[in-house]
Amino acid sequence: MRTIGLIGGMSWESTVEYYRLINRGVRDRCGPLHSARLLLDSLDFSIIAACQRTGDWTGAGALLAASARRLEAGGAECILIGANTMHRVADAVEAATSLPLLHIVDAAGRAIRAQGLDTVLLLGTAFTMEQPFFRERMQRDHGVRCLVPEPEQRAELHRLIYEELCAGRFRPQARDYLLRLIADGIRAGAQGAILGCTELGLLLGDAEAGVPVFDTAALHAAAAVDFALG
Ligand code: GLU
Repeated sequence: MRTIGLIGGMSWESTVEYYRLINRGVRDRCGPLHSARLLLDSLDFSIIAACQRTGDWTGAGALLAASARRLEAGGAECILIGANTMHRVADAVEAATSLPLLHIVDAAGRAIRAQGLDTVLLLGTAFTMEQPFFRERMQRDHGVRCLVPEPEQRAELHRLIYEELCAGRFRPQARDYLLRLIADGIRAGAQGAILGCTELGLLLGDAEAGVPVFDTAALHAAAAVDFALG
């Protein structure tokens, strides 16, 4: 089994979920007492979030690059960035080590194409929904077009992610709001929805959206299990 290197803490609520999903995936495939070989480098999210707010992507990239180097020095054989937003600096992370970066967009893109879909709603932070790094890779490498919610909906979702989900608050009202955004997206032409923020799957839980939903944390964790056992 190969060793997974996870850059986590962004937020730690979803890092816990990555850890659980990766170990569960290894157990399901290898047997009840098996667990993943995994190194976690957990960052202080407040520092990362401050870089995001001020647009200091170079600084954030340097922090994640240093994290990737620590994971490589510790024996990791691949790198996972446990957040969608921080894939904004995926190039800096990739350049920092000789290890393969398992990109979250590729994990989601493969799952969307496997279901034969080509137009989906992208839900995440304002950075993920509005900057090109996620949508362009999805279109270019997977032929999937990402629609996004209306501006005031994007602002509210962004607020929910930082003020509630990353702070460990998962309210039913917020879950209902997420379901409304998905329904609006379907009316606008989407065939399904990407939970393009790694805390959104925790919010949705087992609520039924009635359309295909692609949880990036779960798909990314599954890609890591494939790599580890591949
Ligand atoms: N975990 C989130 C994501 O997947 C949001 C936190 C962050 O900005 O990194 O984008």
